[in-house]
Amino acid sequence: MSMVDLRSDTVTRPTPAMRRAMADAPVGDDVYGEDPTIRALEEETAELLGQEAALFVPSGTMANQLALALLAQSGNEVLVEKDSHIMNFEGGAAAALWGITLRSVSAPRGRITALHVHAHVKGVDEHLAPLVAVAIENTHNRHAGSVWKAEELAACFDAARQSGMAVHMDGARVWNAAAALGVTPAALSAHADTVSVCYSKGLGAPVGSALASSRARIAKARFLRKRLGGGMRQAGIIAAGALYALRHHRERMVEDHARAARLGACLRELRDIDVLPVESNIVIADLSRRGLNAVEESKRLSLEGVLAHDVSPARIRFVTHLEIGDADLERALNAVRSVWGT
Ligand SMILES: *Cc1c(COP(=O)(O)O)cnc(C)c1O
Repeated sequence: MSMVDLRSDTVTRPTPAMRRAMADAPVGDDVYGEDPTIRALEEETAELLGQEAALFVPSGTMANQLALALLAQSGNEVLVEKDSHIMNFEGGAAAALWGITLRSVSAPRGRITALHVHAHVKGVDEHLAPLVAVAIENTHNRHAGSVWKAEELAACFDAARQSGMAVHMDGARVWNAAAALGVTPAALSAHADTVSVCYSKGLGAPVGSALASSRARIAKARFLRKRLGGGMRQAGIIAAGALYALRHHRERMVEDHARAARLGACLRELRDIDVLPVESNIVIADLSRRGLNAVEESKRLSLEGVLAHDVSPARIRFVTHLEIGDADLERALNAVRSVWGT
């Protein structure tokens, strides 16, 4: 049985057209700055994000960690949301690599407000670690792809700036945020000091992420990337997939969002199943009121041909993406009705 794989938008494989672009890509040694495809990708990415420069890196984790290293020093603190990727899914890297501590706050829908920022601003006191930056996540994965509105970003950024703090945006899915709001990515990211993005999530490229910022910061990030072992040679072959995705797969994301909304609505009709508000391509169902276990339930779904991800003991996540068409969605709707109906 072929499976409808809704575990993540990272499972997509390169399309035939993307593979052709990769096969035909001009390449060179990027550590010498001589890979034309990587340079094109970095320039287009910076432009789209309203930043001066960008750096191609192997993963979103590396992009986020480079950002932390640029904005904070050993012994400093960075404010994050408690369910964020930086807080939970980067192997303790902020502490392990840079000696940075993370101070986490719980924010509705994962969106840190000016009040959260102000509440954590500290005076100068020899007891306290300096809080130097705020890192936000847009869209927010564990809050079901929650999308920050432009005014929410502005309020959070302004509050940080008033207190002399820098701002990082983990924009692994900022492409989805822009598509959901019908705005340019730059409208959301231009005012951040650093922005990380992924090409390998909803955009559908096989590998790659980027960090965007000022020219001076990106020059420093280039050095740090090499130190971490992230200097790659003829990586234009993978950057070509990312460039193709950037040019051809951003606009279609609204289709993923529409399918996610349909799945969310279907789940909401089922008895005692709670669904987090669906704002982009991620649907999270909460099975607590049914007393069901997410691991067991995702196994039952898989027997119906649908793969989903148990993100906590009572929550299951479904992510729509490039490889999920209308027929796949129908199979998913039938599967959840059959497993959890009545
Ligand atoms: C996927 C993801 C990342 C980076 O993940 P990698 O697997 O290291 O590429 C960072 N932030 C968020 C919100 C993500 O979803």
